Amino acid sequence: MCSGWSSRCTAPMSDRLDASVRTLRGVGEKRAQQLARLSLTTLRDFLTYFPRDYEDRSRFYTISQAPEGERCCVRAVVGTQPVSARLRQGLTVCKTRVFDETGTLSLTFFNQPYLKNQLAVGSEYVFFGKIETFGRTRQMQNPQFEPADRAGDTTGRILPVYPLTEGVTRPLIIQGVRAALDAAGGVFDDPVPPDVACENGLCPVAEAYRDIHFPSGWDAVRRARRRLIFEEFFIFSLASLQMKSRAVRQPAAALAPRDPAVFFASLPFSPTGAQRRCVGECFADMTQNRRMNRLLQGDVGSGKTLVAAAGAWLAAQNGRLTAVMAPTELLARQHQRTFDALLRPFDIRVGLLVSSMPKKERAAVLDGLRGGGIQVVCGTHALLESGVDLPQAGLLVVDEQHRFGVRQRAALAEKAGSAHLLVMSATPIPRTLTLILFGDLDLSVLDELPPGRQKVATYRIGPDKRDRALAFVQKEAAAGGQAYLVCPRIEESEDGGRQAAVQYAQFVREKCPGLRVGLMHGRLSGAEKEAVMADFQAGKLDALVSTTVVEVGVDVPNASVMLIENAETFGLSQLHQLRGRVGRGQRPSHCILIQGGGGETARARLNALCRQSDGFQIAEEDLRLRGPGDFFGQRQHGLPDFKIADLAQDVDILQRAQRAAAVLLQSDPGLSRPEHACAARRAAAILAPKNGVLFN
Ligand code: ADP
Ligand code: MG
Repeated sequence: MCSGWSSRCTAPMSDRLDASVRTLRGVGEKRAQQLARLSLTTLRDFLTYFPRDYEDRSRFYTISQAPEGERCCVRAVVGTQPVSARLRQGLTVCKTRVFDETGTLSLTFFNQPYLKNQLAVGSEYVFFGKIETFGRTRQMQNPQFEPADRAGDTTGRILPVYPLTEGVTRPLIIQGVRAALDAAGGVFDDPVPPDVACENGLCPVAEAYRDIHFPSGWDAVRRARRRLIFEEFFIFSLASLQMKSRAVRQPAAALAPRDPAVFFASLPFSPTGAQRRCVGECFADMTQNRRMNRLLQGDVGSGKTLVAAAGAWLAAQNGRLTAVMAPTELLARQHQRTFDALLRPFDIRVGLLVSSMPKKERAAVLDGLRGGGIQVVCGTHALLESGVDLPQAGLLVVDEQHRFGVRQRAALAEKAGSAHLLVMSATPIPRTLTLILFGDLDLSVLDELPPGRQKVATYRIGPDKRDRALAFVQKEAAAGGQAYLVCPRIEESEDGGRQAAVQYAQFVREKCPGLRVGLMHGRLSGAEKEAVMADFQAGKLDALVSTTVVEVGVDVPNASVMLIENAETFGLSQLHQLRGRVGRGQRPSHCILIQGGGGETARARLNALCRQSDGFQIAEEDLRLRGPGDFFGQRQHGLPDFKIADLAQDVDILQRAQRAAAVLLQSDPGLSRPEHACAARRAAAILAPKNGVLFN
């Protein structure tokens, strides 16, 4: 089958594609400006202005069988001379009746008086519109129509639906696409080598461009989409793999191997099999003279910190510094405490560097780092500007990576010099997003929770049960437990509706006298946050009213209740993260989701969380429900803007494209062969910092 495959073009695309949109009929300066708003300035731009949907007008119905309330095509003969009447100022109506062998249909056109000259009595047309029945008459309002013997333009086919804007209509886009396809003359850039296209069952590129816009049927749509999505992922994969191989070639300090068992022996618990495996993977990398570029993924509570601490231990055994970067001061401080506890048995000192620190303290830490008195430093991104000499570091740990942004990772790798790099993701990330965002990293997965972890019992309740929930919090507190009470916002605002932490803390204090309630949110200073957190950690507070600053990483094993107000406003993965703050110790734990709105959809979503406890599955579900852009619940997610590929749907194509890209790079690492010129050019465009997908 592959041998007969032959529509690959090595010829460059036609220059005629560079013609301005002004060359289109009816496009003047104003229209050109309106097109420019959709990034359509040359004919070439129309080729990749992909339909966002299709409308199936290929099927013709008889009048009696036409589905009620749906837009569809009906083929019928005009039975009465259309009559036009003026209803009032600025409103005319034109009516006629059409028939076929099954019945008659009334047509009403508003403000189109000229139609009476376009519809000839006795002639057959195809009408496209919504069928409605009033009394015993079936009717269509403002249908589009074509003579039946010349149907095929707006009826009788699958019609593309394009994103439009003011002044830009579908016929205009279609005109542009037609002109572009003509100008191309069947010759298209094709970055996919023929054998790859063949192995993956891709249709020829010329067919794909034609059919994505003007498909002859649904099969044609599927084939075209598959081809173009593959191409998009293929280019992206080439770029990301090239970046990876560049990173991997970075020289790094080869650390002398040490037996991790020595480190494990000092722990108060036995590491899980997954932790042992991941530590092994890290150590294997770190003892090479190429830089480790590794992503550590694991569900909430799977014990990622321990793996990083083992790496810090290995670096310290080699007389090398480890820097640990966290997204917030809160986490940086917590890491400092955790690393300190884990590494103290080896006399390894752990310092803290955050921007809110007094100058003197800061100077002392920097001195310690220079003089060798401190071997591990935890901090925020302030670490990057701190004057700490990171190139001297043996290991750089980046925790809760996605909050950092991919651009920062690139900057970091730059600054890190010869240090090995370990990136830890806060939350399980769906497979596709991992491949896209971290395709340049090797992957270690902690797929096992420490033993004895109890499932967090999760319930969804309405606000009417809030009092009972708070009574439960009091009962837990009396029994020695602690609770997080999470609100979606800090303070009440005009639009109201959602619970706000400041007011909620007040409310809980009044409602539950005797309960020691703390308040935590992003507007507190670093020192204030630290003090509140320390009190909670030490058990001096029973309940911590908080915004989502406790979302990632916070580790207080004695906490046993997570109550979330307006749970419907959060994503599933985010809720799972929050839930992961409890169930970390011996105490049976509970997560109470208070649904304040959102109706049936929210209810179903929250119920799904009650049933499901596997973070990786929740992540996939969340991606499916919210789409890739919202998955991280923030705009700066660093995801590339694919033109046609859908990160939530097209995982299988992505994996195929990645494999194909890897194979191609094996045979031609620099993409320097002439037949790979197109692929090389397109991949380079992605890696260019300017529109840089990878450097967002
Ligand atoms: P995360 O992967 O969410 O960052 P942490 O590293 O914060 O998880 O670990 C969660 C909790 O589990 C911590 O209190 C930690 O001390 C504990 N822990 C980690 N590994 C083990 C283990 N192998 N056995 C028992 N407890 C562990
Ligand atoms: Mg963590």
